[in-house]
Amino acid sequence: MKRDTIVAIGTPSGVGGIAVVRLSGHDALSIALNHLSVRTLTPRHATYCRFDNLDDIVVTWFPQGYTGESTVELACHGSRYVQQAVLESLTASGARLADRGEFTMRAFLNGRLNLSQAEAVADLIEATTPAQHRLAVSQLRGGYAQKLSSLRQQLLDLTSLFELELDFSQEDVEFADRSQLLTLIDTIGGETSALIDSFRMGNAIKRGIPVAIVGAPNVGKSTLLNALLNDERAIVSAIPGTTRDTIEETLNIGNLTFRLIDTAGLRHTDDEVERLGIERSRKAREQAMISINVIDATQPEQALDDIQPSDGKHIITVINKADLIGDDARVKAANYGGEATVCLSALHGEGIDRLKRAMLDAVGDGIPEGDTMLTNARHHEALLHVQQSLDNARQGLNDRLPADLVAVDLRDALYHLGTITGDATSNDVLSNIFSRFCVGK
Ligand code: GDP
Repeated sequence: MKRDTIVAIGTPSGVGGIAVVRLSGHDALSIALNHLSVRTLTPRHATYCRFDNLDDIVVTWFPQGYTGESTVELACHGSRYVQQAVLESLTASGARLADRGEFTMRAFLNGRLNLSQAEAVADLIEATTPAQHRLAVSQLRGGYAQKLSSLRQQLLDLTSLFELELDFSQEDVEFADRSQLLTLIDTIGGETSALIDSFRMGNAIKRGIPVAIVGAPNVGKSTLLNALLNDERAIVSAIPGTTRDTIEETLNIGNLTFRLIDTAGLRHTDDEVERLGIERSRKAREQAMISINVIDATQPEQALDDIQPSDGKHIITVINKADLIGDDARVKAANYGGEATVCLSALHGEGIDRLKRAMLDAVGDGIPEGDTMLTNARHHEALLHVQQSLDNARQGLNDRLPADLVAVDLRDALYHLGTITGDATSNDVLSNIFSRFCVGK
């Protein structure tokens, strides 16, 4: 397929030591050579030469590059002027400015990557922690999409046989082996459920593990948030009920990203605005994987007693304002019940490291083993559909429903499996996915 030649700066916008300009498409080499002091380029060899009268550059030609097309990468000096001038010269010679993600989209359309791998490229670029990086690399190397793709192919084969029976409906023949079909449905169903189950942790690793900081007004929740973040993000005030909204910040500890949600003080109130804040904080607490339950060491009787560990939620009890109590009381506080208890002073930043350690311990180091961890919300959505359609198909087969009805469910499952690997994806979905990328990727 002959497509036009696209160009973009592949390095981040701004000034740098060098900048890499990338050309991809049928005419990439000839467009580049228009401006170079050499007559030809050796494939995959770096060549030092001059670009017009503008700059000394290092240029490399890949006859089949990342996009699967002829690709030329020009490493020029990273001033804004040089970058812009190189870009303008190349567009003047016939290249078109690339859209967001267009290089990766071409790689997908040319069969170099499946859709799941293309999406992993975006995740890889955005990764800020080792755990996020590892998940993206595993998805990029194929991960579960390859397995799903081969299972989908088997299901497609059996479904086609199944549908063939519809053409012979008068003759009462069965081309598709029902028990084989049921076994395959179970295999795909098992794979699907395992992936769906892994999404909670996978999503937490990708977006940050949600942590709710909860407790009565004035126990020091905002101060604690500031101490964790090391800045003045939340407004701290001695008047109860000043934190009216939830505040969210992310924090990297060890291999993981945490999303800290400071919640409005939990107490009964007539103030409408504060009531809304409290409502939101209850929601945040429900969604949190870790709940940091803050207690004021000088008023332990105010401890919220409605916070219970539930379905995988971890509770860390923080006894704050340790600076205001004596040593004996501190020892007592440290032995306060709960899964983990940390006695600290948010105001003086004492004991914050122990709290960070407790947060890491609560979720493990977060680096997943193997490659069966789902991080992509789009895939999660698709797999829920797959699961539902497979359940319906299984039910239909067991109830000996007419083949045409069962075939509808099988086709539905095939379609949704196909949206993950890109075997069945509309243009709208594609452009939506690739618009998440930056220009030049
Ligand atoms: P929130 O309503 O739970 O968010 O509580 P704030 O963070 O606004 O703190 C309420 C008051 O307690 C403020 O005056 C803080 O300075 C004070 N405070 C918070 N943490 C500590 C601490 O560790 N020691 C002492 N002495 N005071 C604290």
